Amino acid sequence: MSTPTTPRRASAGRGNTRRGEGQWALGYREPLNPNERSKRDDNPLNVRARIENIYAHTGFAGIDPADLRGRFRWYGLYTQRRPGIDGGRTATLEPEELDDEYFMLRVRIDGGAVSTEQLTVIGELSQTYARDTADITDRQNIQYHWIRIEDMPAVWARLEGVGLTTMEACGDSPRVILGSPVAGIAEDEIIDGTPAIEEITRRFVGDPAFANLPRKFKTAISGLPDVAHEVHDVAFVGVRHPEHGPGFDVWVGGGLSTNPMIGQRLGTWVPLDEVAEVWAGVISVFRDYGYRRLRNRARLKYLVKDWGAARFREVLETEYLKRPLIDGPAPEVPELPRDHVGVHPQRDGNFYVGAAPVAGRVSGSTLVAVAKAAERVGSNRVRFTPQQKLVVLDVAEAEVAGLRAELAALGLQTDPSPWRRGVMACTGIEFCKLAIVETKARAATLVATLEERLADITSAVTAPVSVHINGCPNSCARIQTADIGLKGQIVTDEDGRQVEGFQVHLGGGLGLDAGFGRKLRGHKVTAEELPAYVERVVRHFVAQRGPQERFAQWV
Ligand code: SF4
Repeated sequence: MSTPTTPRRASAGRGNTRRGEGQWALGYREPLNPNERSKRDDNPLNVRARIENIYAHTGFAGIDPADLRGRFRWYGLYTQRRPGIDGGRTATLEPEELDDEYFMLRVRIDGGAVSTEQLTVIGELSQTYARDTADITDRQNIQYHWIRIEDMPAVWARLEGVGLTTMEACGDSPRVILGSPVAGIAEDEIIDGTPAIEEITRRFVGDPAFANLPRKFKTAISGLPDVAHEVHDVAFVGVRHPEHGPGFDVWVGGGLSTNPMIGQRLGTWVPLDEVAEVWAGVISVFRDYGYRRLRNRARLKYLVKDWGAARFREVLETEYLKRPLIDGPAPEVPELPRDHVGVHPQRDGNFYVGAAPVAGRVSGSTLVAVAKAAERVGSNRVRFTPQQKLVVLDVAEAEVAGLRAELAALGLQTDPSPWRRGVMACTGIEFCKLAIVETKARAATLVATLEERLADITSAVTAPVSVHINGCPNSCARIQTADIGLKGQIVTDEDGRQVEGFQVHLGGGLGLDAGFGRKLRGHKVTAEELPAYVERVVRHFVAQRGPQERFAQWV
């Protein structure tokens, strides 16, 4: 671990920086909002010792509110929503009125990669401490619910016993690193980013130097364009340099939620063994120059928007890396994002088998059973995907059919309908304190309804139509980059009642269609009408599209 550094003082007036936005590097060190004060008052990583030594014994009632609603996040812990509070009251209640005494807990799984031994422990912990809950998040994490603070020491002991952690799974810190679910095995992979992911997590997760960032920091590293790299704070995307060979193209400043932005290319080529150094440079720029005054301007995208890619690269090179980077080409743009569902050949002659739960909802028991099924066919590697799916690697051809049948019996289809394949959903009102509407159960209803009502045109849908469902204006399910993005809010139904519903965004995408869906004014749908609405849109698409036309083009 490196020691915390005092950010250097940069020349004032750099670029288009506005009046004091809380940039440490420009001398604005005085915390300017409660979150910044909390981080200054105590390194959030210190909260682990208090959980183990104090709160695990006092129980929920003994927890300092500054830890409960702030520093706990650095260990993946959020209070979950008290049951029975409807979405219309979310914005009107005080935090303590929304808090339940149970927690959501995220286990960070960098690159989405687990061994079957780790998967078994993840599943058994859920059975013991989380009422058998487990959701695959679209950041390749596993999220539990119903965790008691008293159980955290035992949970950490078991996770860490198999090399897993919850450290910096949330908070203003370097969050889980997304990686290709088929890293190291895909036939067409340009380069395997796994060593870089491992080096960054080994050297920098838990490093006090990066434990107090202006806000969250999301990273993706992949030799294939399969990790939504366009919407990350920093992304390293596999590319072949005409002289230097395989390496990575660097993107910075992507992000969703309010004021979404597609990341900008720095125009550099970075070899595998320099990725960690460049990553540390980029996150240092963010730490030192990021806007800390207002939380809603603190993500890296605002700095990149003001500076532009050229200025960002110049600061990175001159102040942090102390050397120029090599210029590099852009990566190829894939026509469609890959979700790795189905059966696909690996480059070693084996196969990988991708399966689709509905919107990432599984259970501890299911994960234990998946681990057993994988081991039975001689595999000990499973990966989670950024589309809330899971993939079993290293399956011999003779074992594929048996594994597929076993996964199907667990509700994990390897040849799913386009609807099951294309639907994602965030946590929603069941557990999330910010939510306005229900999401996971709605996703399940939507999939079942579309499978029934659209059976006649399923074969005409040659690529999944992505439907992403969010429980509030945040974008945990990446609604702006979906064909049909649904932002949860209270809407007025035909009878004038205030009911759960969605603002619709149409035609977003990644890859060739990288861009944000159009939010049509007044284009809202009640939750009850949702299946019928999606059915109508898909039928129109299938009837009207031109040959090879994709949804985003058609819209
Ligand atoms: Fe919660 Fe909103 Fe994120 Fe959904 S999008 S998990 S409701 S914060």
